[in-house]
Amino acid sequence: MNIILLGPPGSGKGTQAQFLREHYGLMHLSTGDMLRHEVECETPLGQQVKNLMDSGQLVPDGLVIEMLSQYFDLPEYSVGIILDGFPRTTPQAIALDEMLERKGLDIDHVLEIQIDENLLVKRISGRFICVDCGAAYNEYFKIPVESGICDICGGRDFKRRVDDDTDKLRMRLRLYREQTHPIVPYYLGKGVLKTVDGAQDVEKVSKDISLIIEGREKP
Ligand code: AMP
Repeated sequence: MNIILLGPPGSGKGTQAQFLREHYGLMHLSTGDMLRHEVECETPLGQQVKNLMDSGQLVPDGLVIEMLSQYFDLPEYSVGIILDGFPRTTPQAIALDEMLERKGLDIDHVLEIQIDENLLVKRISGRFICVDCGAAYNEYFKIPVESGICDICGGRDFKRRVDDDTDKLRMRLRLYREQTHPIVPYYLGKGVLKTVDGAQDVEKVSKDISLIIEGREKP
């Protein structure tokens, strides 16, 4: 079974990919993770894409397609894959079809996790963590019981992630709307696209996904 997870940044694609990996034994392919790894290892590709990624822009199609196709040809990915963060543009969707066709494979499900942008901004831009123990908080949904003191370890130092900056997030959401969302009709036309309500609890989103891929959802 081959699945594409579509959805704006912060919609929970990574979390749901993990769920699918554990429950259905599929291999997780995240182009974001692969690119971050290239940057960390300071490979030529990593050096080429670092600035684009830091500023929240998309990496050119050719580079991402080339990188992904190397994984695609590895035998361990024949068991079934979850694509997370790819395709993000129409040329990537077309390239993916070609890669699949070469291996005689198809996409079984494209799951679009839908979620209101303002809720996402709060979920992501409100995130902060305790420097000492890594406990996660959110200034809108989950602040420490005692202001400025970590509930878990009593630490008093907190930090935000670099890419959690609201302007950058708004830009990434705009890129999703303008470049990625337009691939929805492409998959609707193939009859494989279903939407899932991403504003629900993580467990409920996973449950809805299971119902779809097991063909047990209500009509
Ligand atoms: P993600 O973890 O999926 O949000 O990806 C992090 C960053 O990696 C994105 O903001 C882009 O800069 C880059 N990236 C990941 N996947 C792609 C893709 N399919 N096409 C272009 N850029 C990508």
